[in-house]
Amino acid sequence: MICPKCHADYFENIKKCGDCNLNLVDACSLDIPIPDMTWISLSPIHGNTNADMIIDILNTEDIPHYAKYNWSSSALGTGGNSLVDNIVRIFIPEFYQEKTMEVLKGVHE
Ligand SMILES: [Zn+2]
Repeated sequence: MICPKCHADYFENIKKCGDCNLNLVDACSLDIPIPDMTWISLSPIHGNTNADMIIDILNTEDIPHYAKYNWSSSALGTGGNSLVDNIVRIFIPEFYQEKTMEVLKGVHE
């Protein structure tokens, strides 16, 4: 049995995670896509080339994701400074955070 939040492993007879106080789920059900996912963003990525590289890795690892481009002009309001690299934010389900950190180790913080 696995905690859906912290992914701690428990013996079959344990029903709740001691840390999170959540009902544990069967490890097999972790592969089923969760309809109501919480999305979190990775730290900002500078430049489309770097973002494409990371998206490639996520695709290879079957990690759901979506990317938001042109973040710098729309959100940060840098005011038309053309020297600023395009900033890309990639969002992944919170559920996949650990796996994402693992596969992006050395590529992206
Ligand atoms: Zn837990």
